[in-house]
Amino acid sequence: MTTQPRFVRGQPASEGVVKGLAIVKSRAPDDFAVQEAPAQNAWTLEDFLRALTQTRDQLALFQKTIQERVTEQVTQIFAAHLAILDDPEFTGRIRRRIENGAAVREAITGVWSEYVSALSNTANPYMKEKVQDLTDLVNRLLSNLARSGSAGRVGDYRGRILITSSLFPSDILRLVAEKVEGVVLTAGGVTAHLSVLARSLELPMVLADAAILGTVVDGTPLLVDAHHGLIYIDPPPAVLANYKSLLETRGKPSPEERDVQPHTRTKDGRSIRLLAAIGLVSEAKLAADLKAEGIGLYRSEMPFLIRNGFPSEDEQYTVYRKIAEEMGQREIVFRTLDIGGDKILRYFPTQQESNPFLGLRGIRFTFRHQEIFDTQVRAMLRAGFDRPIKIMFPLVPSVDSFLFAKRLVKKLAADLAAAGAPHQAAPDIGAMIELPCAVGMAAELAEEADFLSIGTNDLVQYMLAIDRTNEQIADWYVPWHPAVLRAIRFVVEAAVSRGKPLSVCGDMASSEELTPVLVGMGITNFTIPPRSIPRMQKLIQTIDASAAKALAEKVLASRTVAEAAALIGVKWKAEY
Ligand code: PEP
Ligand code: MG
Repeated sequence: MTTQPRFVRGQPASEGVVKGLAIVKSRAPDDFAVQEAPAQNAWTLEDFLRALTQTRDQLALFQKTIQERVTEQVTQIFAAHLAILDDPEFTGRIRRRIENGAAVREAITGVWSEYVSALSNTANPYMKEKVQDLTDLVNRLLSNLARSGSAGRVGDYRGRILITSSLFPSDILRLVAEKVEGVVLTAGGVTAHLSVLARSLELPMVLADAAILGTVVDGTPLLVDAHHGLIYIDPPPAVLANYKSLLETRGKPSPEERDVQPHTRTKDGRSIRLLAAIGLVSEAKLAADLKAEGIGLYRSEMPFLIRNGFPSEDEQYTVYRKIAEEMGQREIVFRTLDIGGDKILRYFPTQQESNPFLGLRGIRFTFRHQEIFDTQVRAMLRAGFDRPIKIMFPLVPSVDSFLFAKRLVKKLAADLAAAGAPHQAAPDIGAMIELPCAVGMAAELAEEADFLSIGTNDLVQYMLAIDRTNEQIADWYVPWHPAVLRAIRFVVEAAVSRGKPLSVCGDMASSEELTPVLVGMGITNFTIPPRSIPRMQKLIQTIDASAAKALAEKVLASRTVAEAAALIGVKWKAEY
């Protein structure tokens, strides 16, 4: 174990502050326990059968635990594991090998490798996923054999922080069920769905590719500040003391957080609406608990990303309906599927793209695969049959695309009416302003749309030509760049002059430094993670709208990025 205090700066992927002992899985998950189970043992057929039952029980328990926190669809990941376990061909082969004298471990890994090579020889697009499921399962079986019946202790990662080079959504679900405290991902980048899933399940996660992490051994004390992307290895007492209160307030919202007021006003009384940005049903509950005035953005990707095939219309309906019911008559904006870029459907073969962020993304993906759009919009319209839901399109590039998508929605509503299905016949329809070309057309989009929402994560990425997922260039990802702020001002003016509601979403919307500037520019709707609502309400209550306007004017007039940074109080040293 190391004794020197050390420190790594990475990139936050899911907020939270945790401490715990390292558990290092530096190989791909495909190798986890298969390699780690003891080679020498005297396991019998009875041991194997016991481990089978134990594994089945654990998986059923996972499903149950997770079901309470996310949608039914998420539990499909463990259902796939159970299906392999219940496949008599798979377990029968292992059993026959054992009965013919093979050692239990060799029987299991032998059948596993037969399956893996058979799968590798097929052109099945789910091959990788199946191999992963199979390996996951075999690991679990071997662990259960190795731990001789102590089911309660298997997979209990309480007090542990996982350091790993590879992670998939099913790993996140499993790790949460196994009560891991946090995750440090050392390679491969963090895909949007990993980060959204980790955030939704409140699993702190940091992406850090520093060589020093390779020297951390199992059991090393760690403190992970996933708000700022910091990892302390062997944190000294002074560091622990600094984080004491944050470490204590993890988990469910505190009574103080719940004490949030239903409406938010600036110091001088201007009304500001705080809406929630969510990706999972469980977050709708949190949003309602924390008195969000509505859902300003439901990222609908999650049910598509975390399963083995497209969710059916009814499955989608179930998810959307739960959100609608959770929010009562409050506003809900459902965003249509935003696939592409780093959000890839593993079960849907698409062409390799050399620039995925400039590839088939957002609304363009659904135009190319219109049946996916149709199914989704029908489910959304049906889910809003008794309340005023809104529908919004991501990454709108032009008035043409917006009008085309709007016509599709109207036609789908007319079809539902003709079929006599209860549905929302006249949802408000909005456009996300995330592309520089959409900024240029903001006035016309404001005329055509019922509302606009600025997606600042993508707007910053595309205006500054900085990949939002590339840690190497993160220093240049500066939302306060005067060009970005001027683009936002242009959109505000377009929306205000046409009397159309406008909200700001993306990370910038909950930034401490930029909130006064956004308020000063006339933004009144902020779409933010539910967890940020109490903090943002407190912050806004300290802002004087006329002082904020003066500040915004100064920042907008900045000639340099550094000048803008200084005005809003950001420490920024990068050369630009
Ligand atoms: C954004 O781009 O700011 C946004 C809200 O959309 P997403 O982060 O889902 O791309
Ligand atoms: Mg976006």
